[in-house]
Amino acid sequence: MRRIAVYGKGGIGKSTISANLSAAFAKSGRSVLQIGCDPKHDSTRFLLHGLRLTTVLDYMRVTKPLDYKLDDILARGYLGIGCVEAGGPKPGVGCAGRGIISTFELLDQFKLKDNYDITIYDVLGDVVCGGFAVPIRREYADTILIVTSGEFMALYAANNILRGIRNYDGSEKRVAGIVYNQRNVEGEDERVERFAKAVDLPIFAKVPRSDAFTRAEHDNMTAMEQGTSPAICSIFTEMAATLQGDCPLYEAKPLTDEELEQTVLGTNIQSQRAANDEMGEATVISKAAVPEEVDVANPNRYLSKNMVRSEPRHGCAFNGAMSSAVHIKDAVILAHSPKSCAYITYQSVSSTGRRKLFERGALLPVALSPNIDCTEMGQPEIVFGGMEKLESKVRLIKQQRPKAIVIVSACPAGIIGDDIDRMKELSEPGMPIVPIKADGNMSGDFQQGLFLSYLSLARNLIRKDVDEVPGTVNIVAEKALVTNAQQNYELMSGFLDRMGVKVNCRFIYDTTTEALQNFCTAELNLPAYSDYTAKTLRRFFEDEYGSKFYDRGFPIGYDETCTWLREIGDYFGKPDVAEQIIDDNKQSYQQAVEELKPILSGKKLMVITFNSGLDWILKTALDIGMKIVKIGALDYSQDEGFRSRLGVDLPVELEYNPANRDSDLKKYKPDVLLANYSSSVSNGVPVSDTIPMCPDVGFESGLVLARRWARLIQMSAKGEWEQDEHLFEKYYA
Ligand code: SF4
Repeated sequence: MRRIAVYGKGGIGKSTISANLSAAFAKSGRSVLQIGCDPKHDSTRFLLHGLRLTTVLDYMRVTKPLDYKLDDILARGYLGIGCVEAGGPKPGVGCAGRGIISTFELLDQFKLKDNYDITIYDVLGDVVCGGFAVPIRREYADTILIVTSGEFMALYAANNILRGIRNYDGSEKRVAGIVYNQRNVEGEDERVERFAKAVDLPIFAKVPRSDAFTRAEHDNMTAMEQGTSPAICSIFTEMAATLQGDCPLYEAKPLTDEELEQTVLGTNIQSQRAANDEMGEATVISKAAVPEEVDVANPNRYLSKNMVRSEPRHGCAFNGAMSSAVHIKDAVILAHSPKSCAYITYQSVSSTGRRKLFERGALLPVALSPNIDCTEMGQPEIVFGGMEKLESKVRLIKQQRPKAIVIVSACPAGIIGDDIDRMKELSEPGMPIVPIKADGNMSGDFQQGLFLSYLSLARNLIRKDVDEVPGTVNIVAEKALVTNAQQNYELMSGFLDRMGVKVNCRFIYDTTTEALQNFCTAELNLPAYSDYTAKTLRRFFEDEYGSKFYDRGFPIGYDETCTWLREIGDYFGKPDVAEQIIDDNKQSYQQAVEELKPILSGKKLMVITFNSGLDWILKTALDIGMKIVKIGALDYSQDEGFRSRLGVDLPVELEYNPANRDSDLKKYKPDVLLANYSSSVSNGVPVSDTIPMCPDVGFESGLVLARRWARLIQMSAKGEWEQDEHLFEKYYA
């Protein structure tokens, strides 16, 4: 398998050379893929007999991620050559380099390059932003060809490309040599030879100016396909043969600007460099000439709901990834971002802690002083790249000896193409470095950031070679930013503790690097919720780690808690302990119900909701003796319908029209109106309450609300202040 990046200045002929080289490989029986990485998107045109492909970037603009299909962007040209065009914005607008990054990310999802013997990347080389450097990253090209003529600007671009390679590779050897595409300008041969000698590279091939190319392109094909010039054909056939054999590779040794000028203008410079006669390692060429079936199984398995539906972004992936990663207490979370992005994250993470502290006087773990650091990217990094600053920051943090360093990239890092994956090389035993390529909101919304964080941390930290420890569980998918997460956890881990079951790892909440590494020792995984995030995470752990999951999320309300305890008790062989816990709580639940009856019994409850089930509230309301007068189930719910297991007739109106709210309030005169969003106008209802997004778990979920209603009803002394509301209705509404 050989992956070749063909770099060269725009207009130098690299597409012609790439396409003819692809054709030569295909003629020798190899399966070939050519990826055009020039915004002009005409790299593969002559392999496709003039057909212009839909570019990957145009396709991504109009297609929802879940609808991505490889066949929509991959065409088969001459001798079955796979053809893809990245595309890009019009000159002068947008960021073409970012386009290359997005294209490669999509192609990676389809694992496209793994299915061909030969991949050729045809890349514009006179642009020096990080995006255009993507093909020279190690996971893509193993061999680099530099196309140039003898003109100064072409040689200048060739030297720049060598600089880019040097930045990535240091002294590694990946350059096969210079492809000299003759323009027939005066002194050209000497200039190219001087340049090649100065940079210690061979002239890999010399392609003369020839009518054969013009004739073939006139007929919408490559010279190799047309075959009218044996001399031209033999050049490409020989190039392909060399690249399939033990092709020697060389390190990139770019010249300084002064050296380049001297070289090109003909001054005889003395190269200080020792001649490099080492040969590159032989590359094994796959014998398979026909590509295996490309895996087109949905590559976007872990997308947020927002991404699946192509909705406006809710928050940014950087913030989501940071908010989750800060829960690793002994790690430093490094935002590769401007200060402002890190500050926004700091605010959202710490606001949860502050809210809890102000409301309940309780300190939340992690949230009040998140372990965040920042590279503080500014204009210089955005123009010249932020990798140097990132590396020096990582080295500085390493001196603090954290148990792990997690790097999260924000928008600017993604736009300029900083390759934060390279920082993994600075990992050392006992201090892994985990990059999370969130790239701000380019990879998605807040929830997508959570998924990126979960997947990156799992894949980089979790060990599969550990023994299972019986009687242990992981808690999975607790919410990083809700104020009752810790309280819910303490209640549930208390129940588990009574059954002799220990919590191994919380993925990811108030945890440690070691706990994450030992994730696989747990016997069973307990999801904290049964929502989309928890289901997606479950799918991930089942697929990649063979993890075993309990079906239900943490229980909400009395009935669900009884069921949860009985099932978990049965699983761990502790049904008697589960019954004991239920008995203990039954008494306190009933006592609370009796205390609320004098205030709430007989009071009317009306509910307007898009939740699919609210048994946890309705049961408590019924136990207390409240009358449920109306349940309006709104039809724009993302859940399906409205369900109840209480076994009583409930006055449910499906597809409830919210315009009927006021008339229904007049008709039913409820004492308590419960809705997902409470109105600022009470309409004379004594208590308007909001259904919590993340209710407290356990036996008392319904009691929490009922106690509040009782308090508010007792306090409800309607007086003169009520006039404000009438005035509001009169003048504002
Ligand atoms: S959207 Fe981008 S710029 Fe804005 S906070 Fe997120 S990472 Fe920073």
